[in-house]
Amino acid sequence: MAPIRTAIVGLGKIARDQHIPSLAANPDFELIAVASPHSKLDGVRNFRDIETLLQAVPEVAAVALCTTPQVRYDTARYALEQGRHVLLEKPPGVTVSEVVALAELARRKGVTLFASWHSRHAPAVEPARAWLAGRRILGVTIAWKEDVRVWHPGQRWIWQAGGLGVFDPGINALSILTRLVPGVVLQSAELSFPVNCATPIAASLLLAEPRGAPIRMELDFLQTGPQTWDIVVETDAGELTVSMGGKTMAVDGRPMPGATTPEYANLYAHFGELVRERGVDVDVAPLQLVADAFLCGKRLEVAPFIE
Ligand code: NAP
Repeated sequence: MAPIRTAIVGLGKIARDQHIPSLAANPDFELIAVASPHSKLDGVRNFRDIETLLQAVPEVAAVALCTTPQVRYDTARYALEQGRHVLLEKPPGVTVSEVVALAELARRKGVTLFASWHSRHAPAVEPARAWLAGRRILGVTIAWKEDVRVWHPGQRWIWQAGGLGVFDPGINALSILTRLVPGVVLQSAELSFPVNCATPIAASLLLAEPRGAPIRMELDFLQTGPQTWDIVVETDAGELTVSMGGKTMAVDGRPMPGATTPEYANLYAHFGELVRERGVDVDVAPLQLVADAFLCGKRLEVAPFIE
C-alpha cells in the first residue's frame, strides 16, 4: 500500500522529539508538509496554518495535531470537515464536549479520528493490564511528580485556561490508570493554583474503582531531583508497580521483563491500522476525570509561579 501522506500541525517540542522521528521510521507514513505559525521544518512544504496547507497540498490524507490544546478543536474540526484522518495529541481537547463532537463528526465523515494517549502505548502498560486481569484490587497509589522548569521551559500555554497545569503530565497517569482499571470514578480533589496562574501546579485526588478500593493520586509540578511517574497497585495476589511513566513494571519488587518498543512507534502503528479501517478511537475517560477534578476540587491558592 502507498504510504499515508501526512502533515504535522504545530511544530513544537513533541512534534520534533517524537512525531517526526516516528513518522520517518514507519514506512506506512510519509511526512510531506507542516503547518505552524512560526516554526519551519527543512525538507517539506511549510505553511502558517492548516487551512492554507490543505488548500495548497490536497494530497495530504492525514494530519497529526501537535499544537497547544487551546487551538486543537478548531484545527481538528477543519481537518475532519475537509475529509482528512486526524491524530490528536493528548489532551484531545480543552473540554469533553469538544472531543465528543469531533468523534461524531469523524463518524459522519467516514474518516479516522484517533484521540491518542501516548502513555497507554508505553511498553509495560499492556503486560501490567494482563497481570492485573482476574486479581482483586485493594488499593492504588499514584505519584506523578516532575519539574515543570525542566520539561516545559517557557510554555506559557500550560498556565493559561485550558492548558491543564500539572494535569498536562497528570493526564498521562490517568490514561494508564483507566487502561489498567476500568470504571474509575473521582470522589474528591484539592487543586493548588499559583496566584498568577489559571491552572494548578499541584493536586491531590481521591478516586475509586468499582468495588470501592481507594485510588490516591498526588501530582506535583515542582519536583526537583529524581522525577517520579509511578503507579502502585495492591492486589489480593501481590503488588504491581508500573514505573517511569509506563516503561517498566515490577511485581512484589521484582522487575518483570517487558516489550521495549517505544510508545510513539506503537502509537503510529495503531494510527496506521485505524486509517486502513476508517476507525474512530476516542476514549474521553482520562479527560473526564480531569474535568471532574476541576468540577468538584477544592481550590487552594499558593505562591506565584516564576519561570
Ligand atoms: P510546544 O513546544 O509549546 O509546541 C506547541 C506548538 O504549537 C508551537 O510550536 C506552536 O507553533 C504550535 N501552534 C500554536 N498554535 C497553533 C496553530 N493555531 N496552528 C498550528 N500550530 C500552532 O508544546 P509541546 O510540548 O510540543 O506540546 C504540544 C502538545 O503535545 C500538548 O498538548 C502536550 O500536552 C502534548 N505533549 C507534549 C509532550 C512533551 O514532552 N512536551 C509529550 C507528550 C505530549 P510555532 O512554534 O510555530 O508558534
